[in-house]
Amino acid sequence: HLVASMVTGEQVEETYIMIKPDGVQRGLVGEIISRFEKKGFKLTGLKLFQCPQELAEVHYEELKSKSFFPKLIGYITSGPVVCMAWEGVGVVASARKLIGSTNPLDAAPGTIRGDFAVQTGRNVVHGSDSPENGKREIGLWFKEGEVIQWTPAIAPWLKE
Ligand code: UDP
Repeated sequence: HLVASMVTGEQVEETYIMIKPDGVQRGLVGEIISRFEKKGFKLTGLKLFQCPQELAEVHYEELKSKSFFPKLIGYITSGPVVCMAWEGVGVVASARKLIGSTNPLDAAPGTIRGDFAVQTGRNVVHGSDSPENGKREIGLWFKEGEVIQWTPAIAPWLKE
């Protein structure tokens, strides 16, 4: 990766995408995974997981002072989530565009939140907001060996 990105000047990034409990309960898992898959990013980690309270608190530690923090922790731990690691050039910002605005009523049609949600407190999916947080969150949610480095057979059809 390093060598390829040095040649092309492109920066390969990783992002942590999570289908929140409402997305799992509503049967949106396949639909949401499909959007990232069809876009052309590479899936490197995937699991169904019941998030413990402590992990939810660490993941959202920047929001600890917010009034909605206890409800947010309750929401994220209320049922299984789907944890994913995705890789690609520009994947962090692109995934945020695919996901749409935090408030689903502001999210553009065609985005995941724009198409499938109505409330900020039930916005079906999470995506890291920076490459640094992508790495940090993948490290939090996945154990060693759960993130796989592989080369998709279609790679030459996605990048020249
Ligand atoms: N959230 C909430 N109420 C708010 C703001 C945020 O319940 O007023 C929740 C919502 O689920 C959101 C998450 O906290 O996705 C994290 O907030 P952030 O501002 O980081 O938004 P995101 O990066 O998820 O779009």
